[in-house]
Amino acid sequence: MLSFLIRVRIRLPIVTRLFHKIARLLKEQVFAFLFVTFLMLGIITGVHYVLENTIDNTIAERAEKGGFKWAKFFATKLPNIEVLVSTGIPTERQEEIIQSIIDADDVFRFLIFDPEGHLVYVSDIEEYRIERGPNVNEIAFDVYSTGKSWVEVRSGVDNPHRPVAYAQTIVPVVSQDDVRIGTVEVFTDQTKIKDLLRTQFQPILYALPFLCAMLYLIPSLGFVLKANQLRKRALEVEHLNRYDTLTGVLNRGTLTKHLDTQLKRKKKAIPIGVMFIDVDKFKEINDQYGHEFGDVYLCHIADKLQTILSKRGLVGRMGGDEFVLTVQKLTRTEFVTLAEVLRSKINRPFRHRGQTIVGSISIGCYHCKDNELLRDIVHKADLALYSAKTNGRNRVEHYCEGLEGIQARRRLIEDHLQIAFEKDRFHIQFQPIINATNKKVAGFEALLRIDTDCDPPLSPAEFIPIAEEIGLIDEIGLLVLRKSIVQAKLWPDNVFISVNLSPLQFRSGTIFQKTRNLLDELGFPTNRLEFEITESTLANEDFNVAKQLLDLSELGITIAMDDFGTGYSSLGHLWQYPFDKLKIDRSFLLGFDDNHERHRDIIETIVTLGHKMGMRVVAEGIEKEDHVNLLEEVKCDLYQGFFFGKPMSGALATEFLLEEGVCSLKAIADQGVDAHDKAGAV
Ligand code: C2E
Ligand code: CA
Ligand code: CA
Repeated sequence: MLSFLIRVRIRLPIVTRLFHKIARLLKEQVFAFLFVTFLMLGIITGVHYVLENTIDNTIAERAEKGGFKWAKFFATKLPNIEVLVSTGIPTERQEEIIQSIIDADDVFRFLIFDPEGHLVYVSDIEEYRIERGPNVNEIAFDVYSTGKSWVEVRSGVDNPHRPVAYAQTIVPVVSQDDVRIGTVEVFTDQTKIKDLLRTQFQPILYALPFLCAMLYLIPSLGFVLKANQLRKRALEVEHLNRYDTLTGVLNRGTLTKHLDTQLKRKKKAIPIGVMFIDVDKFKEINDQYGHEFGDVYLCHIADKLQTILSKRGLVGRMGGDEFVLTVQKLTRTEFVTLAEVLRSKINRPFRHRGQTIVGSISIGCYHCKDNELLRDIVHKADLALYSAKTNGRNRVEHYCEGLEGIQARRRLIEDHLQIAFEKDRFHIQFQPIINATNKKVAGFEALLRIDTDCDPPLSPAEFIPIAEEIGLIDEIGLLVLRKSIVQAKLWPDNVFISVNLSPLQFRSGTIFQKTRNLLDELGFPTNRLEFEITESTLANEDFNVAKQLLDLSELGITIAMDDFGTGYSSLGHLWQYPFDKLKIDRSFLLGFDDNHERHRDIIETIVTLGHKMGMRVVAEGIEKEDHVNLLEEVKCDLYQGFFFGKPMSGALATEFLLEEGVCSLKAIADQGVDAHDKAGAV
């Protein structure tokens, strides 16, 4: 029972599926199936008709021959047949013979006609006597006249006195002298023979239409299946043409077409909103978690966008990690809200195969009311996206006048960076850092410059973030380090060189190794090198900055916290990491210019804090004597600013040292020819 149930349970779905398949096929191919059904019915009817005709003809032929034979036999067996034909009254002897003939054969009845065609005798009506009237059987007369027989196969189904199938044959009766004396109509029972013939021909009756149907059905079934396959393939191709294969949202072409149509149909009053969406740091997600994870994450984002947008608009993937979304009939406020909802809903934990990330998207929006060209709309939304990305990502930006200028400026800087990188058009400027106690140069901060004829020159504050974004910062950072060390080698051993590091230089985890290799290669003492890092570097726990900083510190490199007071100014950061120096951001001295008392207190507090934590404190942005006086009061250790010296070329920095008497010409000569040669490149 159990096994039966299991079998049924297993088979039922198969049967149901098959049933559904057939039903679907029938539905799809209703005309083909109706045609086949009618064709089969037609063939069956036709074959049946032909078969019945053939059987009847065979019977007729047989009956005709039999009729002749019987008439001959009858004439020979029956004495004085001429008398019977002329009188119609059989003698007793003739009766007996007739009976014996009928009993012994298939003949169950016969009629005798005289030469004129009058009926004279009927075998199954006793004492049949015909008053010969004018009635003449034309057929019998014809048979007598021509000597040719007549035969007809009949059905006795409706007549209880007749066999189911029988033949009526009229043949001439010939006397023993070979003279035609009349005709006889013989009724022979053909039921058996008809049944026999039918059983023989029946299989043909059914096989033939079946065969024909098969002949039609097999190729037509093949055709139907092929047609179905082609249709499916066409649907797939259509899907591929319209939708993005990975995420299932519209592809670039389809979305652009839709947007174009919407714009062409747009009545002036209907607003259209376009969002350009970019997945933040998608490359890093791919690199860190693998491409499969990246693909699933893209699908998740597409899904979320689609679900939140619902039927209000369309979502498309432009390729890579870029999506475009269009909505119609939303007011600007609704549109802005929708963008913010999308951003915040995506900025939630996403989990896949045990890995969790909190990704984000940047959205550039453009909401247009008047008729605008597709090209312009796309450009404006793209500009807004660009602005969202450059302003820190995970944010929504709306297009505004002036964005074009910002982007043009950015492109210009990108171009300068690329060219400078390819053709080594970077140089370093050095800004002196002065020892508070003796007012002599303690070291220099290396500040990067690009050789361009831009006026004003490009500021690193502007081009460094762009170098970070386009992925050049690692190489450029190393280049700065090399050039700075090459220059610093020309200076006395007590002059340090301070180099700025970007947070992204900690991403690959190779900064320690690269620095050590470079110091080894150039033979530069580690204790003369200082790295300046900002608090934002410490914010990214993923890069394992703590360990890298510790390694660098243990190597003997000084670590300075740059721009202190502008970021998180977290005490936690100060004691958790191995900082040797604290650089007070120059904004505090600017503030001091406006409000002496308040900023004096703040600066003093920072200096005290730094000292308490065992750090030396550097003040940046010293422009006036006032500043120096203040810093002397609060016991700041090192001074940096235009008051002591602006950033300058390597050669000028050397001259600066000479003027200060920090180094002598001899000291420079001691650095060796090699270093001089390399310094030429700085
Ligand atoms: P920073 O590290 O805070 O560098 C000090 C900046 O303040 C320099 O600007 C310097 O010229 C300027 N400065 C120094 N003293 C004074 C002063 O008395 N008054 C005024 N108004 N400004 C003063 P610069 O050279 O334009 O550099 C800007 C920023 O670019 C730097 O700020 C640093 O964050 C970044 N940077 C420069 N070179 C590099 C580099 O090689 N690598 C990295 N990662 N960043 C760099
Ligand atoms: Ca700095
Ligand atoms: Ca600084």
